[in-house]
Amino acid sequence: MAPPAGVVGMTEFSQRVEAISISGIREVFEAAGEDAINLGLGQPDFPTPEHARQAAVDAIEAGEADAYTSNRGTPELVDAIAEKHARDNDLDVAPEGIIATSGGSEALHLALEAHVDPGEEVLFPDPGFVSYDALTKLAGGEPVGLPLREDLTLDPATVEEHITEDTAAFVVNSPANPTGAVQDPEDMREFARIADEHDVLCVSDEVYEHIVFDGEHRSPMEFAETDNVVVVNACSKTYSMTGWRLGWVAASERRAERMLRVHQYAQACASAPAQYAAEAALTGPQGVVDEMVASFEQRRDLVLDELEDMGLDVPKPEGAFYAMPKTRCWTAASSSCPATRSASTARATRASPTPPTPNSSARRWT
Ligand code: PMP
Repeated sequence: MAPPAGVVGMTEFSQRVEAISISGIREVFEAAGEDAINLGLGQPDFPTPEHARQAAVDAIEAGEADAYTSNRGTPELVDAIAEKHARDNDLDVAPEGIIATSGGSEALHLALEAHVDPGEEVLFPDPGFVSYDALTKLAGGEPVGLPLREDLTLDPATVEEHITEDTAAFVVNSPANPTGAVQDPEDMREFARIADEHDVLCVSDEVYEHIVFDGEHRSPMEFAETDNVVVVNACSKTYSMTGWRLGWVAASERRAERMLRVHQYAQACASAPAQYAAEAALTGPQGVVDEMVASFEQRRDLVLDELEDMGLDVPKPEGAFYAMPKTRCWTAASSSCPATRSASTARATRASPTPPTPNSSARRWT
């Protein structure tokens, strides 16, 4: 209810929250008919690996998941994350540099909240994952979307050109949502150099690191000479655990200590049962990941074939589970295109949506 006439509202909302809104993709879901096939959701449709589920059940039954854990996570989970980085990324991350979070989403929030001052700029790929823009605004920062190369990867030169004295951070996301683009190792080396030389933070969102079909995933953290790279990762996509809400940040101790301040007050700790499940997922057999990735690759190929049969030009997604056909903007007069700019290939089937008229001279990605 609005305040009574003559009373100046003291309970209005913050400018930061008024600057963001619920993702427009929700409206598209609601508008869709019952027989529509949902290609919009970025989540795997596999069950969480049995050993991960069972670890949570065991912890619950043993009464080990009833209480707060340490803010940064159970020591066993933190060690499992450190070992994962040694195994997969050849990185030596100290346990003090790791915080288990409520999904990659919270990890991104911590990274930006701890490093962005009001008015500072955060650069990120556009099109890119919707949270980069919103979380920048929530941190009081200024979002700066960066155009992509023709193959939908982010050119390090574009990042460098956009750095100003107000730039706090840039986000790298490979494999990327919503394009499926995979940055090559040389780009990652360049991102690290840029973070080092310009003394800006590189937030590397690596939640799709294992879902790579062509090319190779490397983390900019491997190449950085300073501690200017913060890695965001999660069990969500790799182990089909989106509902468990378990991610993490990996950083230097001093950066993790700042992020832990935010995490401590906003979250206390990640959900304890989820931490036990994540530990089992990270330390258990990794063959389940290979099986899921093989299936995602088949679905990617199917979606590419279908889209190409429709006459659409689609840069080949090298990872994740998205495809972004090149189409003409549907609303010629508007400066922005409809929200459904990318299709998730995670649930691909043989059904064909009606495409917009292809136009090879079009420059917009929808
Ligand atoms: N980063 C990217 C690029 C994503 O696509 C997502 C989820 N769609 C996230 C982070 C957040 O993942 P989580 O479910 O672990 O919060």
